[in-house]
Amino acid sequence: MNDVVVIGAGVAGIQAALDLANHGSIVHLIEREPTIGGHMAQLDKTFPTNDCSMCILSPKMVDVQRHENIRIHTLSEVVCVEGKEGDFRVTVHEYPRYIDIVTCTGCGDCIQICPVEVYNRFDAGIGVRKAIYKPHPQAVPDRVIKDAEHCIECGLCYDVCGPQAILRDDKEKEIVIEASSVVVATGYDVFDARQKSPLGYLKFPDVITSLELERMINASGPTGGQIRRLSDGREPEHIVFIQCVGSRDMTLGRPWCSCVCCMQAIKNAMLIKEKHPSIAVTILYMDIRAYGKGYEEYYERAKTAGVRFLRGMPSDVRADAKGLGIQIENTENGAIEVLHPDLVVLSVGIQPGNATAALAGMLGIAREETGFLQSAHDAVDPTGTIRPGIYVAGTAVSPKDIPDSVASGESAAMKAFVSSKKGKVRGRSR
Ligand code: SF4
Ligand code: SF4
Ligand code: SF4
Repeated sequence: MNDVVVIGAGVAGIQAALDLANHGSIVHLIEREPTIGGHMAQLDKTFPTNDCSMCILSPKMVDVQRHENIRIHTLSEVVCVEGKEGDFRVTVHEYPRYIDIVTCTGCGDCIQICPVEVYNRFDAGIGVRKAIYKPHPQAVPDRVIKDAEHCIECGLCYDVCGPQAILRDDKEKEIVIEASSVVVATGYDVFDARQKSPLGYLKFPDVITSLELERMINASGPTGGQIRRLSDGREPEHIVFIQCVGSRDMTLGRPWCSCVCCMQAIKNAMLIKEKHPSIAVTILYMDIRAYGKGYEEYYERAKTAGVRFLRGMPSDVRADAKGLGIQIENTENGAIEVLHPDLVVLSVGIQPGNATAALAGMLGIAREETGFLQSAHDAVDPTGTIRPGIYVAGTAVSPKDIPDSVASGESAAMKAFVSSKKGKVRGRSR
């Protein structure tokens, strides 16, 4: 048997699945969301190349869908893993989509007619979606899902659907997959900025998160790529980014650096300056971490483009007579400054996904004190674990940028492939 289960279909899981499938393994790709793609699908551009994120992710998603060796299980969660390397039994719980995905054509007529609008998690809350919806235009599978929690059963979508693909009733079910090895690539959650209440998130409408800004900058996002204040719809004149929100913060018990938010802020600041040169952009930071290939040069280009980097971290964001007010000590010269931005972007960090603890317990693998999954050895076996046959990849292990997530997906795939062929692998994870 050379079947492999890959849990999580973000970019690391997708890469692992493709590499395994290309080597002849049968891959079961398990994803709890209705589409594969993970957080990368929400991003506008990638750094330092400014490639459109979906333009480089979408072809991989399509390759996964078309690959004869890959079985995609969306709306699915692993609930039990029994057995040992070479002979695992993986129980997967599948949640109902209320759509016959064989007959649904993905035409979207049902979305147009549905009268119910709800919070759109994909747009990080700054847009709405219908009760029957496609997560985003490039979703894989290219099918809708009916949100039974918010559907009012008005019946309009049933009438408009030519192939009669919408199901009034659909059941949860469990399947069991026999696999020789397992790759865990369950990704991350973003820090909930409400936990840093002095920064005013959800208190002031014009304090938003970096993920909300990503959706706003995206041409296919809820504002069509326009940067707008949520309070009055006006284009801002001065945007301030606050770095390390929910990272490197011992008061919250979160000592880790989230690795990506410096470059994400620089990238978004550059995009803003390119499209709207008149908008002033200031980045408030402790240190700028531009450690990857081409990152330092990108940082230098941002300075040349007019982005202001001000070293100092504010304790709060206040409302004053001029709107929002941020007092800060410039730690390079000791000067106290008061800024009056009309849009504040909190660069929220990466944290372990909310199901990580339960998953680690079920799989019998260890977690770090931080809550991220523990690899067999961070330096010499970063994708191995203490349990033979189970491998880890991507941001489930630690914060990573996209290139590092892809590389760890490749590494975990190779280990899982060797494991599935030989039944055992030599290395420190053994
Ligand atoms: Fe089109 Fe029907 Fe599928 Fe909706 S459920 S996308 S109307 S085929
Ligand atoms: Fe929307 Fe539900 Fe009405 Fe269909 S039945 S149109 S999903 S509210
Ligand atoms: Fe802070 Fe930058 Fe590290 Fe993010 S990458 S936690 S903003 S130092």
